[in-house]
This record gives sequence, structure tokens and C-alpha cells, in this order.
Amino acid sequence: MIQSAREWLEKDRRYVWHAMSGYPSGASTLVIEQGDGAWITDIEGNRYLDGMSGLWCVNVGYGREELARAAYEQLVKMPFYPLTRGHLPAIELGEKLNEWLAGEYAFFYSNSGSEANEIAFKVARQFHQQNGEPERWKFVSRYRAYHGQTMGALAATGQAQRKYRYEPLAPGFLHVPPPDSYRRPDELDPEAYGRECARDIERLIQWELPETVAAVILEPIITGGGILIPPDNYLPAVKEICERYGVLLIVDEVICGFGRIGTRFGHQSYGIEPDIVTMAKGITSAYSPLSATAVSQRIYEAFAGSGEYERLRHVNTFGGHPASCAVAIRNMQIMEDEELPERSAELGERLLKDLSELGEHPQVGDVRGKGLLVGIELVSEKQSKRPASPQTVAAFVSGCQKRGLIVGKNGDTAAGYNNVVTLAPPLSLTEGDLEFIGETLKRSLEDLPESAE
Ligand code: PLP
Repeated sequence: MIQSAREWLEKDRRYVWHAMSGYPSGASTLVIEQGDGAWITDIEGNRYLDGMSGLWCVNVGYGREELARAAYEQLVKMPFYPLTRGHLPAIELGEKLNEWLAGEYAFFYSNSGSEANEIAFKVARQFHQQNGEPERWKFVSRYRAYHGQTMGALAATGQAQRKYRYEPLAPGFLHVPPPDSYRRPDELDPEAYGRECARDIERLIQWELPETVAAVILEPIITGGGILIPPDNYLPAVKEICERYGVLLIVDEVICGFGRIGTRFGHQSYGIEPDIVTMAKGITSAYSPLSATAVSQRIYEAFAGSGEYERLRHVNTFGGHPASCAVAIRNMQIMEDEELPERSAELGERLLKDLSELGEHPQVGDVRGKGLLVGIELVSEKQSKRPASPQTVAAFVSGCQKRGLIVGKNGDTAAGYNNVVTLAPPLSLTEGDLEFIGETLKRSLEDLPESAE
């Protein structure tokens, strides 16, 4: 039976509870049927350039048959075996990930970014216990950061609105302000600001008693919280502080990894070596669910004891699913063959240059980016940098969509600061796609009022 688009939409409303939504009040949604390159098509045949790669994840673009084939071949050969034992795709993927990390990590596989972070927290706490420092149980993260939705990952998230009505969450998660280079105080140059922001972490560690702090978790660049690009010296300074106080550094690469900001992993842009790296999304370009928690050998070795409680007592059924591992390996090969991390750096620079004229609009406070990760911060007044209203941001986002470009906006960061329009297109996009993005953003901006609402 052929169903009309209207019928599908009606069923969608009745049966599918969408992310971040309540009972549907008739708000229009898109039902996507197909994808090809950087473009998606909805059930009514409308085409859109997906400027968000789904949810920051379809890094190699849509329609890659070789990824479907990799999953198919693995499913035919050996569809499933749990990682209570072993299987070849998991081993091969670990080897490949270590090549990309230029390190020697062990990988605990799971199914989502949230889970990868939960596992990092459990590993960090147990590591300290087995390393003779059982009081280290607290975690430090930043306001505006997003680390996922499960009770620990949500506790690490620094966005109060997302937690409201779900609290109390896991205890022991503390927050400091993030670097916000657009609002850097005039008296500090970027380097001094980077040092000062890292000092916020150090002060918190000192005030909490260093011997109670297990780890710092951060993204190289805060993505969902508003594309907050730190000064270059910030991450090295945080790493140095962590080392000084015996605190582990967990880097959340769920979005910044796999070429998004112009290097294989985001932290490589800043020259640091994390103790734990969490990853998801781009690991398979979202063709199949997979995440991983990469743990340095030093930490892994602390789990070598033979006592009943000295093992990592964590298990999940689907983590490291053979088909997902096979897809991930093929996905990384595509990225290597097409030099997508390098392409991300180059095209990102070109896009930023093209978008710099947006900054002349009175409601654009800042245009920033690294690789193919871009934020356009809308303000109602340039002088005070007062954030634009949600209505202005929504008008810009829907203006882009009407013209065939999907863009995102930052999530529930802090009251009034949901004013950053985001772009994270597939790294494989064409030069024509890049021009389309620039043109569409400019024309959609022209429709916004010049003066503050
Ligand atoms: N960490 C970061 C930085 C993310 O952006 C996300 C999701 O957007 C997560 C963790 C959680 O990943 P997932 O949605 O797969 O649980």
C-alpha cells in the first residue's frame, strides 16, 4: 500500500517520540528517506544539504555502499559474538584506532557516546582505587559542555536545563566556566586567557582537595554548547595541571574526533596526550552504532590483578558489535584514502573566509570555526554581546531550511545563551556544496531584521 506523505507524518506524530520533544502539538518535522553525499531527501522529495551531518556524525557523507557492504559481509560471516570473548573485527579496529591515536591504548567498546563516557568514569574511579588512592572520586567538567544523557554523563554535562526535572543525578561532578574566546576580557591576550581558564580548573581541584579528584573531562572544542574554541595553550595547560595533581584527563572526542576539526582526533590539534579518549559518532560515520573508551596502557595495567573486584566489572551486549567494527574499519580507510581530516582543515578554512562577511551584519557577533565545525553567534547588540533572542535564532535556522540548508543551533546551555547557529557538514562535501552553504547563509541572514528585537 502506497502511503501519502501526510499519512506518514500523521503516523510519525502518533508513534515516534522524537528527541528533545513532548507530545507533538503539530509541529512540523522532516521525515528523511534517502541520502547521497552531503544531501538528504525527505518523503515529499525535498532535498536539503545536511549542514549538520545528521547529528554531527555522518562524516564521510551519505550513500557509501562500501560501508553497507562491510556490514553485510561481516553479518553473513559472523553476525555476533559478545566481547566477553573475542572477535577479529574488534581486534583489527583496536589496532587501527591506535594508529590514528599514535598511541598504545586498550579499547572498551560500547554503543553510544554517553556510554563511552560512563565507562570512562568507572575506569577512572576504579583505577585510583587500585592505584592506592581510593578517595579520588570527583570529576571536573565545564559549564556549557555536553557529555551525554545517562545519569553520569548528564551529571558531567554543564547545561542546567537538560538536567532540570531529572535530578538528583550522579554525585561528584563539578563544573568550571569554559573558555569563551568571543567574550575574553579585553585586558587578557589569548594566551593569558587560556592560562586563566586552565587556572579555574586548578583552583577547583585545590579547593576540593586534590586527593579527592579522579579526572577532568573535556571536549577539545565545546561543540553542542556553542562551538567554544579555546586559546591554543588551554589544553596543554589543563594537561599539565592534571599531571601535577595526579588527576586523569578524559578527552571526549565524540564530535571532534574523526576529522571534524581538521586532525584525526581533536586533541591532536592541541598536541596533548589524554589518559582516556572517548569516541562515537564519526567512528562509523553513523552507519552503525558504536563507541569506544580508549584507555592508556598505564591505566589498563592497573586492572591486571586477579582479585574478584580488580577486574573492570562492566559488560554490555552489543558493544563492539562485529558489523559495527567492520564498518568502522572501512570508514577509517575511506577517510585515509580521501584524506578527509586534511580536507576538513582546508575546506573549513575556506568556508570561514567566505563567511567572514557575515560579521558585518549587526546581529552577527562572531563567526568562528576549526575544520568543518563552524559557529555563528547571533547577538541583539554587538557592543554588549547580548545574545540574540530564541525567535531570531529560530528564524535564521528555518530561513536556511526553507532554502535547502539544514543548520543546527546550540542546545540548552545557559539561560539566554542558545544563540549559536552551528554547522558540521560531511567532510566529503564538494566545493559546490561549500559555495551553496555560504550563499544560503548570506541570503538567510539578509532576511533577519538589522536592528535588535
Ligand atoms: N559527548 C559529546 C561531546 C556529544 O556531543 C554527545 C552527543 O551528541 C555525546 C557525548 C553523547 O553521545 P550519544 O548521543 O551517542 O550518547
